[in-house]
Amino acid sequence: MDRKAICEGLLEKPDIDVLVVGAGINGIGVFRDLARQGVDVLLIDRGDFCSGASSASSHMANGGIRYLENGEFRLVSEAVNERNRLLVNASHLVRPLPTVVPMFKFFSGLLNAPFKFVGWLDKPSERGAVVIKIGLMFYDALTHGRRIVPKHRFEGRKKTLERYPDLNPEVKYAAMYYDGQLLSPERLAIELVLDAEAEGGHARALSYVSLLGTGPEAGTFVLRDEIGGRDVPVRPHVVVNAAGPWIDPVNARFGLPTRYVAGSKGSHIVVDNPELRRAMGDHEFFFENADGRIVLMLAWYDRVLIGTSDLAIDDADKAVCTEEEIDYFIRFVARIFPSIPVKREQIVFAFSGVRPLPPSTAKNAGQISRDHSLKEDRLGKVPILSLVGGKWTTFRAFGEQATDRTLGILGRKRRQSTECLPIGGGAGLPSDPAGLEGIALRLVHEKGIPFERARTLLERYGTRSFGVAERAAAGAERMLRNLQGYSREEIAFIVAEEKVERLDDLVLRRSTIAWLGRAGRPALEELAEIMGSALGWSETATSMEVDRVAALLRDRHFAHSP
Ligand SMILES: Cc1cc2nc3c(=O)[nH]c(=O)nc-3n(C[C@H](O)[C@H](O)[C@H](O)COP(=O)(O)OP(=O)(O)OC[C@H]3O[C@@H](n4cnc5c(N)ncnc54)[C@H](O)[C@@H]3O)c2cc1C
Repeated sequence: MDRKAICEGLLEKPDIDVLVVGAGINGIGVFRDLARQGVDVLLIDRGDFCSGASSASSHMANGGIRYLENGEFRLVSEAVNERNRLLVNASHLVRPLPTVVPMFKFFSGLLNAPFKFVGWLDKPSERGAVVIKIGLMFYDALTHGRRIVPKHRFEGRKKTLERYPDLNPEVKYAAMYYDGQLLSPERLAIELVLDAEAEGGHARALSYVSLLGTGPEAGTFVLRDEIGGRDVPVRPHVVVNAAGPWIDPVNARFGLPTRYVAGSKGSHIVVDNPELRRAMGDHEFFFENADGRIVLMLAWYDRVLIGTSDLAIDDADKAVCTEEEIDYFIRFVARIFPSIPVKREQIVFAFSGVRPLPPSTAKNAGQISRDHSLKEDRLGKVPILSLVGGKWTTFRAFGEQATDRTLGILGRKRRQSTECLPIGGGAGLPSDPAGLEGIALRLVHEKGIPFERARTLLERYGTRSFGVAERAAAGAERMLRNLQGYSREEIAFIVAEEKVERLDDLVLRRSTIAWLGRAGRPALEELAEIMGSALGWSETATSMEVDRVAALLRDRHFAHSP
């Protein structure tokens, strides 16, 4: 259903079961689950889908090995479980991630760990090999009996340097274990939204619709359609506040003075450094900086993703990656790969977001729990459920808990589980190489797509690739002139099928185009022209959109136009 039809439907009939405010991964998770249970649910976001904290992650579907040190066994166990489900349910967008932990000390941290566990040690300090080995043994034990990824292994200096010759020669050991990599969290999010809407007209999702506050009539909430420019009142039985770092400001709009979130800012950079990318193989390097902070370098397509920081911040709207953070990232890469400097001009993209963590008295942000919780308030007769915290990885489990509570309030029963539900293009997609090749060959034979191109499409869209291929007459896609590897039919498919409203939705959240530094001005112009003709933009509107997005990428994401 398009936004005009949804807004008109709501103006005609404002009564709904559930209003979900915030289409980050937590709001989307609960939206999909409620949709699956047949509940009449409306999801709104003041921006695009997955444009807040959920678009700032380190791209890991991980159990969070370091949380074991804080005693968070429940969280780690749940997260490992969810990571495994993602690897199966969305195998096109979530890949097993071989993770290397280089270590420079043997015993350090052995005494710290128990002190940290009971909360006596606030200052981060470098952990040694023994502590990491114990942690990895625990981590393996958690997946015992449902092993989707291989167990960890531990190697000494000689073997480690043989494998990674450019690694700092002071390394003493390296561990290798597996987690999951979210290749495009934003695509995963939109595919979840589309799956939910496919459940029927009872599930409706609107981007660029803000919650303004309560209406004059009891039980009424006012939404503003930021694109259509009109107000839409709704009367829900339950409100789910999934506004992440903005949970308290949203509750304040209801007159609820909550203090559920104290944000912590984290930034990343993406660099185009072929030498570093080669030295890392297809691995993540996950390690402790000398200051005890856990940081990472992640091989991501032909780029390297580097992060992250953990800095207290009051206003989530002001989160940007700073020059100091960039200096910090460049310095820690130099510690791991001293012979391969990262230069500022190699940065093709930078991003920053705010973790919606609960307020805490911990002296460093790394010790604040990453677990999620459900808070319940009431506005007259309407329950307000706030979804606080959580990891990207655990969205399904959190969504399930919030859905169960909502169903309880509505006096309804769960009809189906989401545990084994495939996501978007993960449906019908085999994860083994032979099965994948079979699907690629179907694209070749049934749709006339060349084999290599079929593989690229499958990597991006899973089985949704058939929808792209259908747009190309006899497989003859028209490739873009200014953006390698993308076709007009592919872009037209995204614009028509994936609730795209603006050019930045396309380059930042329906694709990795901007993230990988490929959204130069000529590419933006070509993309805007395709979007504009599909959405009926005038020439002036199209060129203004290009200017706006070019400025957004330059100012907010450090991306320079080639
Ligand atoms: C730097 C960083 C790294 C991370 N790395 C990982 C990782 O590798 N793995 C992992 O599992 N997790 C990771 N996380 C955690 C995870 O990304 C977040 O916890 C999660 O995305 C929070 O999702 P959310 O839906 O609660 O919030 P958000 O994604 O912020 O969604 C909230 C939404 O509410 C909307 N909103 C706000 N006000 C209004 C309003 N008035 N009306 C309508 N909408 C409104 C916003 O626009 C926003 O889209 C990371 C987080 C950060 C910040």
